[in-house]
Amino acid sequence: MYKNIRTAFAVLAMISTGTMAIAQQHMPNHVNPWTSKPLGALPPIASLTEGEWMKGDLHVHSSYSSEGGYDPQRHPISKIKAFAKSVGFGFIGITDHDNHVLGDVEHNTWADTAFKSDNSLLMLYGAEWTTTRGHGNVFSAKPYDHQKFYDVRDQRDADIAKVKKELGIHLSANHPAGPKDHFGFSYDLVDAMEVWNSCLWTKNANSNLIWEDMLASGRRVTARGGSDVHRPSDVNYIGTPTTWVFAAKHDAQSVVDALVNGRVSISANPYAPRVEFYADINEDGKMDMMMGDNAKSTGKPIKFRVELKGNVKTDSTYTINVIKDGRKFGSYKMPGSNPVVEFTDTPKLVERMYYRLIVEGPSTDYPEVPKSAKVTGNMVALSNPIYFNFDPKF
Ligand SMILES: [Zn+2]
Ligand SMILES: [Zn+2]
Repeated sequence: MYKNIRTAFAVLAMISTGTMAIAQQHMPNHVNPWTSKPLGALPPIASLTEGEWMKGDLHVHSSYSSEGGYDPQRHPISKIKAFAKSVGFGFIGITDHDNHVLGDVEHNTWADTAFKSDNSLLMLYGAEWTTTRGHGNVFSAKPYDHQKFYDVRDQRDADIAKVKKELGIHLSANHPAGPKDHFGFSYDLVDAMEVWNSCLWTKNANSNLIWEDMLASGRRVTARGGSDVHRPSDVNYIGTPTTWVFAAKHDAQSVVDALVNGRVSISANPYAPRVEFYADINEDGKMDMMMGDNAKSTGKPIKFRVELKGNVKTDSTYTINVIKDGRKFGSYKMPGSNPVVEFTDTPKLVERMYYRLIVEGPSTDYPEVPKSAKVTGNMVALSNPIYFNFDPKF
């Protein structure tokens, strides 16, 4: 009987789908109100030169991320800071699990005597929001009421969104595709996503698929990395991977702003090259925008430029894979001796488009974490997209 009902439903479904297909051909007056329309003036693009590149790790656990309460041996904040400084980091996000302290991060991690920014290492306030439906890192330049965000964690997304807005915090989905603790919330809640978790790049494939879907659907969600370390290790530790931000000023707010604006790229470790991605939109030979930036297309060809900076191996060749709207656009060989690649394309006039980069090549040794480079393999760096015709009011 059950089987018969199921068959009947299947037949009905087939008939109704067939009917819909015919009906669609006979609705000439239908207009989808959400179809892309020409945009008004977009906000001006920020300076490409006024600011500084800073590197850091945005997913680090300290001694406070311990089920049995604070464990001084595990990973003291003073040790984390000393290590971060030793590899040249400008900022760090210590993101302890908030459930171990029932949301009271303020009187635990943030109250630690070592938890203090100085000019050489900016500390972001935050925590790993640890919920039944997944994990997300909160970042803020100043203290906020984290308890309130912890308390709302299992409520409806609309209620969570209200609290998030009230607190003025930045939320970033962690290890969005799992394999455990996948991010089971609406991505409308997040400003960024951890598309590169730990030194094991290959396990992030599904997270990258989710990110691509968010971009393709008009959401400018920034990609960032995070090592997710809980204790010292010679395989995966602070800086595997390393997130770079182009901050307008040398302060914690500018680091958070860069995360919001997508002026961010990710490198395999603190010593691996950094990828920078620029575009010249008015054919004057000067670059006008960088990754994270959004402009209206002109219908004319745009020149894109990819540069690798820092510790580039001059005797090696890198591969620059360009992804356009989720599909492979091109692959370019970049000699380490002259690490610049340029290419041209003409984005459509009205529809949204984006271009992003995946850089592969020789791995860079990380002597402080000696087994990490082998695990990361030939993955060198990842850029955020350059956007065209994305509606800022989306
Ligand atoms: Zn987590
Ligand atoms: Zn974590």
